[in-house]
Amino acid sequence: MSTTYNPYHNAQTQFDGVAKLLNLDSGMSEFLRQPMKELHFTIPVKMDDGSTKTFNAFRMKHNTARGPAKGGIRFHPHENADTVRALAMWMTWKCATVDIPLGGGKGGIICDPPSLSKTELEKLCRGYIRQIWNQIGHEMDIPAPDVGSNPQCMLWMMDEYETITGAHYPGVITGKPVGMGGSLGRTEATGYGCIYVLKDLLRILETPAASTTASLQGFGNVAEYAARMYTELGGKVIAVSCWNQADKTAYTFKKSDGCDIPQLVSIKDQYGSIDKDKAFALGYEVLPGDAWLSQDVDILMPCALENQITPDVFPNISSKVKIIVEGANGPTTPDCDVLIKERGIIMLPDFLANAGGVTCSYFEQVQNNMNYYWGKEEVLEKLEYAMTKAFRGVYELAQERNVYMRDAAYIIAINRVADAVKLRGWA
Ligand code: NAD
Repeated sequence: MSTTYNPYHNAQTQFDGVAKLLNLDSGMSEFLRQPMKELHFTIPVKMDDGSTKTFNAFRMKHNTARGPAKGGIRFHPHENADTVRALAMWMTWKCATVDIPLGGGKGGIICDPPSLSKTELEKLCRGYIRQIWNQIGHEMDIPAPDVGSNPQCMLWMMDEYETITGAHYPGVITGKPVGMGGSLGRTEATGYGCIYVLKDLLRILETPAASTTASLQGFGNVAEYAARMYTELGGKVIAVSCWNQADKTAYTFKKSDGCDIPQLVSIKDQYGSIDKDKAFALGYEVLPGDAWLSQDVDILMPCALENQITPDVFPNISSKVKIIVEGANGPTTPDCDVLIKERGIIMLPDFLANAGGVTCSYFEQVQNNMNYYWGKEEVLEKLEYAMTKAFRGVYELAQERNVYMRDAAYIIAINRVADAVKLRGWA
């Protein structure tokens, strides 16, 4: 029987384990294991057919001791308060791991973006801001895109905020289009960030990327750029899986001698769905959605959703797999971490591996505040430096204390946040 996982419980279980390891004071633990502030609200939208539809939405601030809350807004039909709580908490640890002066927050709207017209989507984005505009700002809480939302959504949101406040505040939100306050390199940042970290690990392991193979779950923003950079380094992507909206199921697309990533990109839609018929015509095997996990590859990169690697599916992971790079947030459940640890697979945990996005968002904000914009090379150079530095800190601690990399990342992040909380005199 399969277990149902709650991401918030997963995030708290992970936190509790490390808090115990750190002998964290019980008052501090109680404070850090839940969000500091939660907003739950509704957004009425006049639909194109004249009816009014009410959407439920959230914005949560997990911790702001190290700086303003930072985190995306997820647009998804299965969004719920506990997922947002978990994602907000992971944002706190993520910003602390890469050592940027930001806290953790997250938002969500329960909706199905592909079923909305452009006008309905714009009204939804503007309605979201009308509900929370006095709770956000570059010195308070800075939203960004996440699954289902995009730079256009961010621009509508920024415009609504500026219309209400009557001034220009490009730093209120990140992930905006380039030329409208967005940063060059932001689109690539999360996927590239995963590979900067992987590249440094492979260097330590003295394994050339060109001698490795990988399988990915997801083919959206994170997976596409991770796959692009990984294959540019010479690695071979054997399989990718993604959701098919028309069939309401996922498929895995496989080519044993290596997928042509730009070719797959050319036959995917804006939601990261690969056209099944076109892929088949191009010679890809079309397999069930979960087949990405059972490929004989060196590296697995879950880059879609949470709770994908569980004890139920763990036996399907090939004994050849040596590394897991978590591009998605929370793709591995805590009970499966135990099994991965036992098997000796090296884990590059989510809030380290996918921190490239928020790091570049921070760069976007810095550029907005200066009103001066860097070239793409400069952004990516700074990004690689920040990601590699964070990875080295986590890797060295994991070696020194002989702990799993996720635990090492948590130790670094929780210590930094707890220090900030203590220095402020909050606990
Ligand atoms: P996206 O919406 O661009 O892409 C999501 C991908 O997942 C799509 O290809 C979709 O088809 C696929 N997918 C959905 N359900 C699936 C299923 N059941 N099986 C297989 N594939 C499935 O989203 P994204 O921005 O690439 O984000 C992916 C993950 O990375 C999320 O967990 C997100 O929170 C996390 N993340 C994103 C960023 C960022 O900058 N975009 C930063 C950090 C973390």
